[in-house]
Amino acid sequence: MAIAVLPEHTPTGLLIAGRWTDATGQLPVQDPATQRTLAMVGDASVDDALAAVTAAAAAFPAWAARPARERAEVLRTAFELMTAELEDCARLIVLENGKAWNDAMAEARYAADFLRWFSEEAVRIEGGFRDAPAGDKTIITDHRPAGVAYLITPWNFPAAMATRKLAPALAAGCTTVLKPAEATPLTALWIAEVLRRVGVPDGTVNVITTSQPGPVSEAVLADPRVSTLSFTGSTPVGKLLLAQTAQRALTSSMELGGNAPFLVLEGADVEAAIAGAMVAKMRNGGAACTAANRFYVHASVAEAFNSGFRAALSELQVGPGIDRTNDLGAMVSLEERDKITSLLDTAAEEGGEVAACSTAPEHGAFLAPHLVTGVEHGSVLTRHEVFGPVVPIVVYEAQDEVIRMANDTEYGLISYVFGPDPGTGIAVARQLESGMVAIDRGMISDAAAPFGGMKESGIGREGGFHGIHEFLETRYLGVSL
Ligand code: NAD
Repeated sequence: MAIAVLPEHTPTGLLIAGRWTDATGQLPVQDPATQRTLAMVGDASVDDALAAVTAAAAAFPAWAARPARERAEVLRTAFELMTAELEDCARLIVLENGKAWNDAMAEARYAADFLRWFSEEAVRIEGGFRDAPAGDKTIITDHRPAGVAYLITPWNFPAAMATRKLAPALAAGCTTVLKPAEATPLTALWIAEVLRRVGVPDGTVNVITTSQPGPVSEAVLADPRVSTLSFTGSTPVGKLLLAQTAQRALTSSMELGGNAPFLVLEGADVEAAIAGAMVAKMRNGGAACTAANRFYVHASVAEAFNSGFRAALSELQVGPGIDRTNDLGAMVSLEERDKITSLLDTAAEEGGEVAACSTAPEHGAFLAPHLVTGVEHGSVLTRHEVFGPVVPIVVYEAQDEVIRMANDTEYGLISYVFGPDPGTGIAVARQLESGMVAIDRGMISDAAAPFGGMKESGIGREGGFHGIHEFLETRYLGVSL
């Protein structure tokens, strides 16, 4: 049930077996900028979730048997429809997530790109045919769709995290049950409707929204008809789900939390580093797993970097994302904002100099950008994934020291390096323990590149050539040929 004016084609029910159906309960979706309720969506029970699994299992044989070219064409048409209606998608992202309009448009574009990329990958799944080293047989390999895929997504990229999973799963020939985050279900429902509108067969894409992700997911993962889990979210929830998938030795891919270091090396171009830092930190208001979380700046450039960054932050206009002139929108909820302000309080108690660089509206989940100087490595802001517009700066002297500090975390998703030249940047990047390194750039996410983390930031890769393999089983045929 929509309460505010939502874009056309925004369903609010559960998508099960190709039909939008009512759940037993309802779940409110709030606009964090205004605190008003946008819509009531279905609050799926365990039974609803298992009905979605039944639909996905029934649809699997036919979808898996569809020629890859046909699966590709469905995805390509979905890309075209989504691109034609990109502003509707962005509007929903802004309304339920709070982010700024430009960030929402960028996310919608990025999300659509996964549909295009995997439409292209669907027809390029390679196999192998070769002699065994002993000469006694031929080794043939091919890839089969894994089966029913359970997809769990977070609130910070409600569109892109959905398509980054749905597109490769469908390209591979899997059928899906998608469970979006309870704070931001509308965008995922809209995307599912795009897929339905372009002719995805009934049961191939099912969506359950729920206020009880724990019990619902536990039941789904225990169901023997489910073959794989793809999760994006926090590391603690990822670990909990890994324990559950272990019960069935289920394959799973995990895109988890980050604590990205941003290194400004001696001799770096300070202006370029500030421009990169603005993107790496402020995109999505800092609520990105890839957000630069802690800044390590060489002493020789620290003063210029700090004052330039502060000046750039002070230009940011904070306010509702629906007003396209605002640069920084709302946090996803008041609770999320309060978590960040309490981290800032702790940083100040630890001796950091905390300064708000601009102002934010009092009502709604807004937070002004903050710069924190005098930060020691090991203090609270260098240990926690802040997920907000907070810039803690640590000044360092020696390159081996900064590499040690950058790697001194259980996370390993992404790092940023700004150096005097690309060679130095690459040499430092190769010593960093993260799945991705941005060199002289503030953003590297790309549907065509492998996205994922080392250490406790995840298992597996999404996007690129790797992403489709999260939804495929490799099969080996040994033949006396
Ligand atoms: P979260 O872990 O709280 O929630 C993520 C999803 O898991 C939601 O759909 C939620 O409903 C579900 N969930 C929560 N508890 C569950 C349970 N007990 N069983 C099953 N599912 C459960 O994370 P969040 O707050 O929504 O998102 C922020 C986190 O996601 C951050 O840590 C961020 O770094 C991470 N993230 C990672 C990536 C990546 O690609 N590595 C991308 C975006 C966000």
